Amino acid sequence: MGKKLLVQKFGGTSLADLAGFEASAAVIGRYTDEYQVIVVLSAVKGVTDLLLLAIDTAVGGDSGAEHLEAAIARERAIVEELAGQGVQTPLGNAFLEEQHATLTRRVEGILLLGQCPDETRARILASGEGFSSRLMVDVLQHKGYSAQWSDTDVLPLANEDWLDSLVDTEAAAPLLKARLEPHSQVMVLPGFYGRNSNGNVQLLGRNGTDYSAAAIAAAIGAGLCQIWKDVDGFFTADPRIVTNARCLDEVSYGEAMELTYFGAKVISAKALTPLAANNIPCEVRNTYDPSKPGTLIHSEAKRAHVVRGISHLHDVSSITLQGGGLRGRVGIARRVMDALASESVSILLIVQSSSEYSITLCVRKVDEKKALNALKEEFHFERLHGLIAEIGVQSDRAVVSLVGDGMKHCRGIAARFLTAISSAGVNVEVIAQGSTECAIAVVVRGEDAQPATRVCHTAFFSHSTHIDVILLGCGNVGSELLDQFQRQAESLVEHHVDLRVRAIANSELLLVADDVVDLSRWRDDLEEQGQSWKLKDVIGIRKKLGLLSPTIVDCTTDERLAHEYVRLMDNGFNIVAANKKANTSTYEYYREMRNAAARNSRKFLYETNVAAGLPFIDTLQGLIRSGDELKTFEGILSGSLSMIFGLLEDGIALSEAVSKAMELGYTEPDPRDDLSGMDVARKLLIIAREVGLQFELNDISVEPVVPMDVIGQVDLSELIGTLQSLDQSFSERIAQARKQDGVLRYVARVENGACKVSVETVPKSKPLGAIRDGENALVIHTHYYQPIPMVLRGYGAGAAVTAAGVFGDLMRTVWRPLDN
Ligand code: ADP
Ligand code: ASP
Ligand code: MG
Repeated sequence: MGKKLLVQKFGGTSLADLAGFEASAAVIGRYTDEYQVIVVLSAVKGVTDLLLLAIDTAVGGDSGAEHLEAAIARERAIVEELAGQGVQTPLGNAFLEEQHATLTRRVEGILLLGQCPDETRARILASGEGFSSRLMVDVLQHKGYSAQWSDTDVLPLANEDWLDSLVDTEAAAPLLKARLEPHSQVMVLPGFYGRNSNGNVQLLGRNGTDYSAAAIAAAIGAGLCQIWKDVDGFFTADPRIVTNARCLDEVSYGEAMELTYFGAKVISAKALTPLAANNIPCEVRNTYDPSKPGTLIHSEAKRAHVVRGISHLHDVSSITLQGGGLRGRVGIARRVMDALASESVSILLIVQSSSEYSITLCVRKVDEKKALNALKEEFHFERLHGLIAEIGVQSDRAVVSLVGDGMKHCRGIAARFLTAISSAGVNVEVIAQGSTECAIAVVVRGEDAQPATRVCHTAFFSHSTHIDVILLGCGNVGSELLDQFQRQAESLVEHHVDLRVRAIANSELLLVADDVVDLSRWRDDLEEQGQSWKLKDVIGIRKKLGLLSPTIVDCTTDERLAHEYVRLMDNGFNIVAANKKANTSTYEYYREMRNAAARNSRKFLYETNVAAGLPFIDTLQGLIRSGDELKTFEGILSGSLSMIFGLLEDGIALSEAVSKAMELGYTEPDPRDDLSGMDVARKLLIIAREVGLQFELNDISVEPVVPMDVIGQVDLSELIGTLQSLDQSFSERIAQARKQDGVLRYVARVENGACKVSVETVPKSKPLGAIRDGENALVIHTHYYQPIPMVLRGYGAGAAVTAAGVFGDLMRTVWRPLDN
């Protein structure tokens, strides 16, 4: 009994340089004990493209010599490096020299003729594989393996296409078996081409080496076929675009077919047919990391996942025929297909509107002109008589498709797919789902393929709940928030929350990450790489990075930005606002923001607008939503006034108390902003609106701490002096209050449908009587909470608690992954 047979294919990425050849040879060596190995090779990376360029340049009337030289130089570099190490490469060398002369002659001939017959084209392009396969025999022999080279005359062809032939596997079987030398461990063949009955080279199509391997495996009945590349296997999406794409352990033939048909560059679609027909398992593996198991393509992929992968195909054109003349007519689709088939244009997808009023089909961009002309000719009569409108063509389109055998057993996949795409702001032009239901494809603009792919990947493959953050404003609160993110990083991971900061901006600069912002150096990066920005740049981030449900965190105090929330939510962003300006703007805008959040299913959260991190807004909303009703509210909502009134209670004069609070950093830079009561009034307005009062700011009655006509006009430097004139009257009020066992407090109140902020005498025994030293308190009497009210107290200002409140809001925007 001979050994089992194994077919291995090494692609261009495994043969880029000497290191690639050596890695590939090492891989081959791992299998020679167990198997008799048949190796099929692509050309050295990039060589086929250069040869093609040389041909097309010469056809175009310019010398292609430069490109030809570049192709040969790549090959020669490897041979020379080996020679430098004292390694002989007789087969490779001889072929290289002979090839150099022949190819040069051929390309000159093309230039003279101004054309290149397919036969010549095939011969020139095949030379890349001719070289690499011979050099591999040299390398293997040097390593001590017995390796034989075989030409592809053992691959007789089933059709007469010079550039895209099929192998006659039945006829190939005895030839291959006869060629296999029993004592040689490895037989190496060039991929990409076979030879016809006259011995002439015919290509197997671009990326045809996969097909060479599959056809050989089918012909000899190999137990296993391996495709060796520079990636670990089949990924859930192109790893160059989706950085967190995962390597799949298995896919079915059908899934692999759909994924590769629409662009996944893993194995050529053509190669899958012989593998599937003969039920040959195929491994896709990494030449540079052969310990990894790779992806197994086979017939019985388990259906653990509903969706297996996402692929995208660029350079597609969509063509639409429409007009009343199509309605109800039999055979239109057949005529479209025949017209294109006669020009050898393959149709990537075709959909017909149910009224038959239009047909849209997609072809590769290279076929666009041919397809259009063929259709114009076919429908000449209809066009002449106005039965169909002008044939519409959209170039630069891409097809994004979602693939999985399990999809047909699961409802709602298409809806999820389309929702994800639209949430990246991408417009879907055509939708096609085959009757097998294991793939859904959409046509989008070329530039939208990347965001659409990324966003769908998140929607179907993200395992952790995630939050994408765009932080606007990185002053005290913003930068503290970033610190808290860093401190919490590990714990977030433990709780499967993937929090990613995608962009950071201050008033001047915007830093947008390619993927995520490096929080350990955001200050430097913002300074060095940040760009001046407009709101549209922020809006563009969602599409650029393909984000599903990103959140803008507004840690500014910018009024203009606050007025853009509606636009931001309309563009798919959640808003977390530390900035109070939006909620204290007009009532009309207040409503508009809530409508925008609802119509876009986005979150608008602003817990820190009142009492910083204290969980008041959320608590209040929760109570009201569950049917409770506010009777009265009273609260101390200003940290600075809480501090000042506490000092007054200790017998300190008003002027001194204000000056002390200033020193301690408790007040605004101009303490009149606190003393005017307007800051408290704004917070009360937010609370009032929250409980259903349709108020504007001037509906709130405000009694300032001290009369504004006394202190309003003086210079800041004279403020304390001016306040001294009020010290006496304040001490009297305090003494008066004390007699009644009370204290003075600056209280915000909602009662009987009215709102008021004023200095009040509060009994010491009541909750507000104990609030001082910068603390806030919020006291609510509701239907459920009476006669004893619900009380929330704690620090209501400061970067740490405010940032923590913002962080809390962010956690409530979490986007949860779907089961897949
Ligand atoms: P080779 O010629 O060596 O077979 P290719 O040039 O055909 O290799 O392409 C390999 C590249 O295809 C990989 O480097 C990878 O970036 C890309 N690729 C695209 N889609 C996928 C996918 N779904 N899974 C794995 N790789 C993919
Ligand atoms: N070298 C050929 C190509 O680039 C065949 C292959 O790599 O599979 O198309
Ligand atoms: Mg290739």
